[in-house]
Amino acid sequence: MLIYPSVESLLYYAQAHLLLDDLDVIWARNLILDELKLHDYVQYEVDYDAIEALDRPDSVIEPLVSYAVENGIITEDKREYFAGKLMNIVCKRPAEITDMFGDLHRKNPQKAFDWLYDYGIKSDYIKLGKISENIKWEAKGTRGKLEITVNTCRPEKDNRETAAALKNQKSEYPACSICKENEGYAYGGQIRQTLRTVPVTLGGEEWFWQFSPYAYFNQHGIAVNGEHVPMKVDASTIEKLFDFVDFMPNYFIGCNAALPRIGGSVLTHDHFQGGAKVMPMHKAPARIKLKNKEYPYIDMCIVDWYNSVLRLSCSNREKLIEFAAKVNDAWASYSDESVDIIAETSEKHNAITPIVRRADDKYVLEIILRNNRTTKEYPDGIFHAHPEYHNIKSESIGLIEAMGLFVLPGRLAKQIAEIEKYVTKEEKYNESKLSPDMQCHKAMIERILKASGSGKLVPAEAKLNVRDEINRICEEILVNTAVFKSDEKGKAAFMKFLATLGIEEK
Ligand SMILES: [Zn+2]
Repeated sequence: MLIYPSVESLLYYAQAHLLLDDLDVIWARNLILDELKLHDYVQYEVDYDAIEALDRPDSVIEPLVSYAVENGIITEDKREYFAGKLMNIVCKRPAEITDMFGDLHRKNPQKAFDWLYDYGIKSDYIKLGKISENIKWEAKGTRGKLEITVNTCRPEKDNRETAAALKNQKSEYPACSICKENEGYAYGGQIRQTLRTVPVTLGGEEWFWQFSPYAYFNQHGIAVNGEHVPMKVDASTIEKLFDFVDFMPNYFIGCNAALPRIGGSVLTHDHFQGGAKVMPMHKAPARIKLKNKEYPYIDMCIVDWYNSVLRLSCSNREKLIEFAAKVNDAWASYSDESVDIIAETSEKHNAITPIVRRADDKYVLEIILRNNRTTKEYPDGIFHAHPEYHNIKSESIGLIEAMGLFVLPGRLAKQIAEIEKYVTKEEKYNESKLSPDMQCHKAMIERILKASGSGKLVPAEAKLNVRDEINRICEEILVNTAVFKSDEKGKAAFMKFLATLGIEEK
């Protein structure tokens, strides 16, 4: 196959979509030829209109990567690495991206973030092709209209691995997967040649923003501390979240609880998560309206949500931060054994997950109360997904899921398809013949089969029945994470805690 037209296509793509300067085209072409171990070149016409219409680079990069594999330049396992290497040749450098982002941001923050996100997709840093293979649905029948994604892009993480990583911090370079030093880095599992970050000052510190290559939702990204320091949540954290929404008023931003089992998968490096998404929890109404005499101008309520959420809104930034810090401090040391909440044993167990966004001229701060204590009965956490739901989700429930957007492990794509066959009776269900990876679903399959009745179902019905059960389990998992349940006993316990802050029912 003649490869020159493919080289030409990539160069034209970069001129059309990645701001490759005309003066850099010959230089970039020669670097690409060198990577392909070619020393001659013949220029070909390509379909310029079609290339201009592309929304991502898969079709221009793929032929070059395949050529490299077929000609022994790279081995099959280096495809992503090699694609990143070629894309990096035709992309703008980090300093140029920072300048362009800064110019746009001064005029309009949303335009700057839109541009950076689009550049990430066009440069193949954000893997839109792979993301679009994820299976997604809205759980319309659930009370909170949960959103569910089976994530086929990323392997499942074990909570115990995350906790171990916190204890055994590597001294290797880069220190972790979100350190600034990953920009351009390409070794092991980290293929980050085309990662471009932009600086943001939070609480007077140098942080940076980067989009997630496997975004869970529109413009999903992380704000990361410039230093490799562990996660923490205190008054300064809350202030930084407010600084972020002042920098980007159209995003929500949240910080995971800084303890294992109830937070994110990276606890070793301080970071926030956010993006352009109205989460299911954000749409939930008030369950109980509250007031505090000392802060009469802060609107407050317990949110009508599965877990324990306090919503505070106010236009006065300083007062809201001050009050939120009080909530954080009060919760950190609060115990109520009647509802299994013990703040500290040999380690600390209480933590908050704060999430901030702007709404009209107000700041809205949601504080999710979390506790990570374990018992013999619940070795992964009393307020973690209970063992009977681990077939669906065993990873810790971080802030994205706590707000109702579930990201389920990729293994489920194949397993759900298999369960659907039992429901349509295309395959006869026989519990003794379940394969080892399907054993964990036994109870769930039997519940679905019972609910589906004895008749044959068409595939579309089977799919709905399986999803209904998964939706129900996701709701149960969120209820598991609630430190104060929504029954009378839980409600009274929640109000008792709030009373320690001078909060009463309105
Ligand atoms: Zn780090």
